[in-house]
Amino acid sequence: MVLAELGKSINAALQKLNKAPVVDEALVDQILGEIAMALLKADVNAKFIKKLREDVKMEFKLCQEENVNHQKLIQKSVVDGLTRMLESDRKPFQPKKGKQNVIMFVGLQGSGKTTTCTKYAYYYQKKGWKVALVCADTFRAGAFDQLKQNATKVRVPFYGSYTEADPVQIAQEGVNVFKKEAFEIIIVDTSGRHKQENDLFEEMKQVEAAVKPDDIVFVMDSSIGQACFDQALAFKKAVNVGSVIITKLDGHAKGGGALSAVAATESPIVFIGEGEHFDDLESFEASSFVRRLLGLGDINKLFQSVKDVVNMRDQPQLIQKLKEGKFSIRDLQTQFNSVLKLGSLNQFMSAIPGMGSSVLSKGNEKESIKRIQRFLCIMNSMTSEELDGEGNLNFCRIVRIAKGSGTSIEEVHILLDEHKKLSKVVGNLAKTNLGGKRGNEFD
Ligand code: GDP
Repeated sequence: MVLAELGKSINAALQKLNKAPVVDEALVDQILGEIAMALLKADVNAKFIKKLREDVKMEFKLCQEENVNHQKLIQKSVVDGLTRMLESDRKPFQPKKGKQNVIMFVGLQGSGKTTTCTKYAYYYQKKGWKVALVCADTFRAGAFDQLKQNATKVRVPFYGSYTEADPVQIAQEGVNVFKKEAFEIIIVDTSGRHKQENDLFEEMKQVEAAVKPDDIVFVMDSSIGQACFDQALAFKKAVNVGSVIITKLDGHAKGGGALSAVAATESPIVFIGEGEHFDDLESFEASSFVRRLLGLGDINKLFQSVKDVVNMRDQPQLIQKLKEGKFSIRDLQTQFNSVLKLGSLNQFMSAIPGMGSSVLSKGNEKESIKRIQRFLCIMNSMTSEELDGEGNLNFCRIVRIAKGSGTSIEEVHILLDEHKKLSKVVGNLAKTNLGGKRGNEFD
């Protein structure tokens, strides 16, 4: 993933803070210069970069004389600045369970709209929603066939027509059919064009008036970088865009520019597309994204992934334990098993501090799966007491576990260290009471 490169460059600059004996203005300038270069390479607007540099420098100057950890201060300041750059003040639409949410998708042809409709359908279907797809793209030959094939692959009901040429009529009919059948998320894929033109916008407005969507999702290809700003504004002016999905962030160096440019239009980014498969869709929240980009881990995302992947029956129990700041090796084992079953490895792993940066790039996924499988072998060789944190994992036991699992002492140590790190984060969170607040999200 190209964004991982951006994360690595920013991280490399921040690492210099840890190595320097003193943090002075010259060093901060140098580091900010390197971060600015990395952001420029990702096509982030120079105006946003200037603002980030000014904010971080100001914060450093204000605290320069104080007895604070300057390394941590600069890091936090950079994280906050990047988060502000990617954040929209507007809250994105959240579909309501048990209600019939009509979601209309708009975007230029080739942006990945039809693929993203399917990814979106698949995302909610996996979470247990009753989802359906309507193809109202009568402009592009083969659009209905494509949607039909996609929908069949993910087993989502669909509606469309080979003969009806009026997109408004198809959209309306499809939505009515699925509303009658009490579908909770009805996705309407509309036509795209090669460029913004009046016919496209007129058609979008007519479909909008006919189906009265609860949300309009604008799908945008990230490859044009900061030029996304004008496109996002144009669509926003034409129809009531409530959410944005940025696609193809797996393949373009300009991803950072695209994300910041769209955020600047005050349209919340809800998901990002990171590949051609139907599960290559990741929910987007600026601060989580930045923390994971920099390999800092993200407890919020971790909770979310617990909610996504853990068996509904076990969920309340595990979430209660997380709220209390507890996370045993057995909990980690349950997580790894669920993650392997559902294949949402990247999202879960990147939420763990320190693990994120090593697996964020797609190429590492196979290796990470192997690593998790070896971790599971290690856990399977532990006693029940050890899994529940009640055993004595001394050197002797570690040697036995390594032998029993066919792994090495070093690997057992790595697993124990990762678990320790994770339970510390969970513990700190509960102590600072954040656990309670975050926990409410699961109630
Ligand atoms: P539409 O014309 O906007 O409906 O676009 P399509 O859904 O047909 O997608 C156009 C191309 O982009 C197809 O080859 C998709 O597989 C590809 N695509 C869509 N989303 C992504 C993504 O996030 N990453 C990558 N690499 N390709 C994508």
